[in-house]
Amino acid sequence: MQIVKNGEKCGCGSTGCYQSYASTTALLKLAERKLGKKLNGKKIFDEVHKNNLEYKKVVDEWADYFTDGLATLIYIFNPSLIVIGGGVSKQGNFLKDIFQKSLETKVMKNYLDILEMKMAERGNDAGMLGASYLLLEKIK
Ligand SMILES: [Zn+2]
Repeated sequence: MQIVKNGEKCGCGSTGCYQSYASTTALLKLAERKLGKKLNGKKIFDEVHKNNLEYKKVVDEWADYFTDGLATLIYIFNPSLIVIGGGVSKQGNFLKDIFQKSLETKVMKNYLDILEMKMAERGNDAGMLGASYLLLEKIK
């Protein structure tokens, strides 16, 4: 799903894809570009928790891209539940609140009233656990 016209080149061959702006990898690339150093997600969020405004600005910009795509998905599917997975899910309610505040500026209230957002209970392992489950089901 393209969210930025003529944006970053994506692994799929297209440009401006949601994945290129909303993933944890995208956050790390954005932080490197804006802050001039290679960082991991933990370091970025540690600085945000310390109220480092430079880092907060990077996370807010990334969250803005994240919720741009999410807003489109909400309008298409009108879901009652969205589960956020990946490494950033470790940030729990702290990140969920950033996403929710951003979504409130982009999505009509009646869509958000019925929507619950959760962080994946299995965090970054959720995808691998799901793939393992499918494999085990197939072997049975
Ligand atoms: Zn792509």
